[in-house]
Amino acid sequence: MIVDRSDRFVRTLGYILFGIIFFTSTVTLGSISSGIGRTRRPVVAAGAADRTDSRVAVVIDAGHGGEDGGASGADGTAEKDVNLAVAKDVDALSTLFGIPTVMTRTEDELLYDRFGELDDYTGKKKSHDLKNRLKIAEACDPDLFLSIHSNKYPDPSVRGMQVWYSPNDPLSARAAGTVQDYLNSHLQPDGARTPKKATSAIYLLKNVRTPAILVECGFLSNENELEKLKTDGYRADAACVILASVAEYLAGNKG
Ligand SMILES: [Zn+2]
Repeated sequence: MIVDRSDRFVRTLGYILFGIIFFTSTVTLGSISSGIGRTRRPVVAAGAADRTDSRVAVVIDAGHGGEDGGASGADGTAEKDVNLAVAKDVDALSTLFGIPTVMTRTEDELLYDRFGELDDYTGKKKSHDLKNRLKIAEACDPDLFLSIHSNKYPDPSVRGMQVWYSPNDPLSARAAGTVQDYLNSHLQPDGARTPKKATSAIYLLKNVRTPAILVECGFLSNENELEKLKTDGYRADAACVILASVAEYLAGNKG
């Protein structure tokens, strides 16, 4: 147990230092604070998983959950678990740097019954899950809705982190560009991608009215990326880069 604690301490320390290096090299804490000052209506009945601040800068959405595992790796690694782990790391870093967040889920669950609308959700679980994630986004009215997912493709050689953006607010494309640039520079310089505009296939991005992006953290169908996404260290790296780029977006979004 002592060894476990020690490992955890070292990892956490490295994680914090990594975040500080990214933050100090991009934006000052003061500019982050002022960058999240956009006028907003208060959160009412957010139904969010944890904090319900009256001001929310980022809604962090871990894709899938519960009976919906999402994509899966050859060894059975479930996308829902990878997404939640990365989302929790992003949330922890947000707290560290004073960025108010709400997570749509902090447990292994779908959100179809979050607001108790129906007695029987048979055949409607997925649609109500997505509607409720949208409901949380709209109640919080954040500067950014950040959805975290992982990918899968029939060709196992396909890899890379891909950012999608909502077509409904021009700030979405700006956020996506900033996040994709950071991911390309820090985590995959040899496999750089460009942001893509979401089609109706991505329900949340197509329907949400706030600035919104979806980050695909890599391909579970690619052996190398699967192995990386299974490690705490790589997921923490990914979370640091995502949060640093989100902070830069927030800082440029003032006024
Ligand atoms: Zn997904």
